[in-house]
Amino acid sequence: MAGVLYRKYSDYLKEKYGETVYRIGVDGGFSCPNRGEDRTRPGCAFCDVYGVRAAYIGETVKSLEQQIRASVAPLKKRYNAHKYILYFQAYSSTWGSVSRLRKTYDEGLALGNFVELVVSTRPDCVDEDIAVLLGSYVRDDFDVWVELGLQSAHDRSLERINRGHDKACFEKAYKLLKAAGVKVAVHMIFGLPGEDRKEILESTDYLASLRPDGVKFHNLHIPTGSPLYQEYTAGELSFPDSRRHVGYVADALERMPPETIIMRMTTDTPRMRHKVPGAFLNKSSVYNLVRDELQKRGSRQGIYFS
Ligand code: SF4
Repeated sequence: MAGVLYRKYSDYLKEKYGETVYRIGVDGGFSCPNRGEDRTRPGCAFCDVYGVRAAYIGETVKSLEQQIRASVAPLKKRYNAHKYILYFQAYSSTWGSVSRLRKTYDEGLALGNFVELVVSTRPDCVDEDIAVLLGSYVRDDFDVWVELGLQSAHDRSLERINRGHDKACFEKAYKLLKAAGVKVAVHMIFGLPGEDRKEILESTDYLASLRPDGVKFHNLHIPTGSPLYQEYTAGELSFPDSRRHVGYVADALERMPPETIIMRMTTDTPRMRHKVPGAFLNKSSVYNLVRDELQKRGSRQGIYFS
């Protein structure tokens, strides 16, 4: 870590694979307990109709083969890419029977030169059988990651945003996955209703105590179709601006273990899909400001981790 301000995901991948590896985000056709089988129920207060799937997947769900081919072809042509990570990103990609999950993951993995499997999900969609299934894909040369949404370590905030699980549920899922040999990256949102720096740092300290393999920090954003948008239009919400978010991220990095991989520091939902905050800085500007802030403080990731 000498001279390094934080452990950047792209650097980790380059060190591990000796070249750039590309994530192929797919929608495996799953939903989540909040949205119901047909994805129509209102879900987490910040979630829109797309269930956090990548914009390039488009409006309608195509077959896995179509999605993967459509992503891989331009990467091959433009960057001569040949190593990929299969990323089941949309909704809760462990919400299904073990046999359905196995069939879907197997089908996807057979469609490209994938060096890792990444599955995004929520804590109440992980039980022992699912953790064991995910662990069964792990090899010496093949990692399996789960991106697990915590968002906040405060149960009252989780209730406020209608997550449908509490901190204890998260911790149980986290431990099952780690016991199965799966790497875990945890998602957090900074700026949730009712939370300020104090609550954010309490959540961060809790997360740091688990020594996660990776983290993704998001600023709260509000897609037009989300329940929080109605609160926003009624004038009931306020948000941290970009500079405040940068401060939160710098604080969080200082508290994270030095080995935790920083996979994201801001939300980058496409502008056409989110309404608020409209004037938030783009991803690279936020990253540059976080670096500036750490340098200004004479600080780095892990400096306050104990
Ligand atoms: S954020 Fe994820 S868990 Fe929450 S409603 Fe949307 S898809 Fe479901």
